[in-house]
Amino acid sequence: MAERTYFDWNATAPLREEARAAMVAALELTGNASSVHGEGRAARHIVEEAREQVANLVGAEARNVTFTSGATEANMLALTPSISTAGEKARRDRLFVSAIEHPSVRSGGRFPAELVEELPVTGDGLADLHALRKAVARAERPLVSVMLANNETGVIEPIREIADIVHTANGVLHVDAVQGPGRIDCRIGDLGADLMSLSAHKLGGPQGAGALIRRDDIHIAEPLIKGGGQERGQRAGSENVAAIAGFGAAAAMAAIQADAARMTALRDRLEAGIQAATPQAVIFGAGALRLPNTTLFAVPGIKAETAIIAFDLNGIAVSSGSACSSGKVQASHVLRAMGVEPALVQGAVRVSLGWSTCETDVERLLNAWNKVTSSLLNKHANAA
Ligand code: PMP
Repeated sequence: MAERTYFDWNATAPLREEARAAMVAALELTGNASSVHGEGRAARHIVEEAREQVANLVGAEARNVTFTSGATEANMLALTPSISTAGEKARRDRLFVSAIEHPSVRSGGRFPAELVEELPVTGDGLADLHALRKAVARAERPLVSVMLANNETGVIEPIREIADIVHTANGVLHVDAVQGPGRIDCRIGDLGADLMSLSAHKLGGPQGAGALIRRDDIHIAEPLIKGGGQERGQRAGSENVAAIAGFGAAAAMAAIQADAARMTALRDRLEAGIQAATPQAVIFGAGALRLPNTTLFAVPGIKAETAIIAFDLNGIAVSSGSACSSGKVQASHVLRAMGVEPALVQGAVRVSLGWSTCETDVERLLNAWNKVTSSLLNKHANAA
């Protein structure tokens, strides 16, 4: 393949070298992590080491990390009425999710549809705290799910404030923190989260691994997957030792990665270049605090699908708001919730950066943008 430049880190990050090495080493082993013999204990050792590494990334206790097949499963495990806290065994009576959540959260998890409510966001994509306060007051034991940072816009949610509101209302807070590690602080205690979902492949581990992390006194009575007693009864099935090993190694790297300032500078350069080439470009969520690596923008008259294909032909991988399973570009529910007009929603292009992105990559993207936009806008003008 000709030279490619990858700008879709929020969809998936490249596998880190350390993760690859840990996975290859784990694949050499034969043992089942639940077996008592030496082979089994060797596999168990790998899983438990990874659990420590993931716990360390978010400042949690290793015993409170449950490995899953990814963040989608972690979200499904978390969103259940059967969560009890130290003081209370009663079921959660209502689920509130912000309107910009990942589809796995918006699905309502294991709550019956009539008990799930969506919470509005502001024009900048921030959870509407006034609406949240009113909503949780309508429930006796609410469960609230708000993401740490949005995968499309990069907008960072005020989780600490949300936690205070939820806890005052006798509620439990779940945070989908998938886009945070290696970019912003994800410590469960600092955030005030009770439950937190992570995905290995967003931080340089393999696809198909993730975790649900709990605060000490939070308990999920009904696991999503029942069977053997693996993962302290929270998730049955033999652990995917190699994937978990890769997750752990990637988490250890993400915990020491501190290049937010470098990433922000690259992202700012990118946005300045886009606005210089197309001053009519709208950058979504620009008024809010955002992840250092993400920009989502649209130019009136340019459809995302056309732009993405044009970029691709120029060797550059960008995406529309999110990677949807069918590979089609769909109108973003995030931008719709932010009140963006439909024509502009159709044009949203996401560029997301990562640890190996450098200035040359950004210049390459800007050169391609100059080339792509002039021909796309000409076409638009001729068609009009
Ligand atoms: N939540 C968010 C915010 C995400 O960006 C993603 C991945 N697109 C997920 C959940 C799902 O993660 P996984 O691919 O591990 O199921």
